[in-house]
Amino acid sequence: MAESVEEGATNVVPTTLTNPEVLRYGRQMIVDGIGLPGQEGLKKSKVLIVGLGALGCPSAHYLAAAGVGTLGLLDDDIVDASNLHRQILHSEKEIGVHKVDSAISRLHAVNKHVTLVPHKVDLNASNALPIIEQYDLVLDCTDNATTRYLVNDCCVLLKKVLVSGAALRFEGQVSTYNYKGGPCYRCINPNPPNPDTTLNCFEAGVLGPVTGIVGSLQAAEAIKILASNESAYAGKMMLVSPWDGIMKAITLRSRQKDCVVCGDNPSVTSPVDYVQFCGSGKNKAYSNASTEQERITCKQLKETPYKHLIDVRPAVEFGICALGKSVCVPFGEMMSDKADLEPHIPEDTSEPVYLLCRAGINSQVAVQYLKEKYPNHCFKDIIGGLLGWTSDIDPSFPMY
Ligand SMILES: [Zn+2]
Repeated sequence: MAESVEEGATNVVPTTLTNPEVLRYGRQMIVDGIGLPGQEGLKKSKVLIVGLGALGCPSAHYLAAAGVGTLGLLDDDIVDASNLHRQILHSEKEIGVHKVDSAISRLHAVNKHVTLVPHKVDLNASNALPIIEQYDLVLDCTDNATTRYLVNDCCVLLKKVLVSGAALRFEGQVSTYNYKGGPCYRCINPNPPNPDTTLNCFEAGVLGPVTGIVGSLQAAEAIKILASNESAYAGKMMLVSPWDGIMKAITLRSRQKDCVVCGDNPSVTSPVDYVQFCGSGKNKAYSNASTEQERITCKQLKETPYKHLIDVRPAVEFGICALGKSVCVPFGEMMSDKADLEPHIPEDTSEPVYLLCRAGINSQVAVQYLKEKYPNHCFKDIIGGLLGWTSDIDPSFPMY
């Protein structure tokens, strides 16, 4: 504790904190619920952050700044310019740098006393348990179902608390799972989402500040648990929509006795094949793969005098940039049978209709949808979508 004015008396309370640490963290130590024991708790804690993207960046920053003793930093990706509007640990000079290296550089500058442990891996069923078991608490900052189920199951098996965050478009959510007998992620989501109807921020977009709010809430929750042994979001889900001015917490159902991993008779006793379980969550492009005859490359499209080109991206994206002679029929409207397709389907069934999207994923699903609806027509999706067009045909095309 701080030095006494009396000569010879330097430490009035036994503590593991140094005097500079007390001065450094004093503003948060005087908050009710933290105090000296809470700060000491943070110092001896080990937190794993899975994913150093939009949620992991603010989480890691605040946890490092708060004096968490050890931070594990896990990601297998490199920094891209398209990350910078929301991934606040990374800057322009780190484009092309591994996200773990970029994060370590920034976090070390924030607080050189925190031990930073790099994990430059893609978390999978083989490596997850030995990594997660090194930590007291895990932050799920990923954006795909396969990793969410993997991290959840490992946290249940290893009895670790999981603070989970998600953000998409204008909305975000935070929950704490596996805390003092509360539900796990599978209790709330026993079945994986349909990969045909779920999107990640690569496909749907996300507002940077929304991810900042969610990542900050995850960090606040981690600090509360580690410093005070209490949780704000166990058994709850915090929903935030700053675009609509809404923040509210809803109560989740309790732990399910028939949950396959945390229930009374669990069938999942070690990590399973999550790609198969989730219907290939991260690789959903291939779950609806078109046949060779139903696909063409961007180069082939450039050499084709096409008459019918349907772009299935949302209207707002179509309005930013689009190929000549293309028309916009948003994927969501098409899949919900709300789109007026008739003007875009030629009378001559021999004239092919090309389907285009951002990355060549939704266009494959659209081909299958249209084939069912118009079995005599010819539909083809464009491999790689407009991202492929930008990389293979026209680098000046303003793809985002
Ligand atoms: Zn469960």
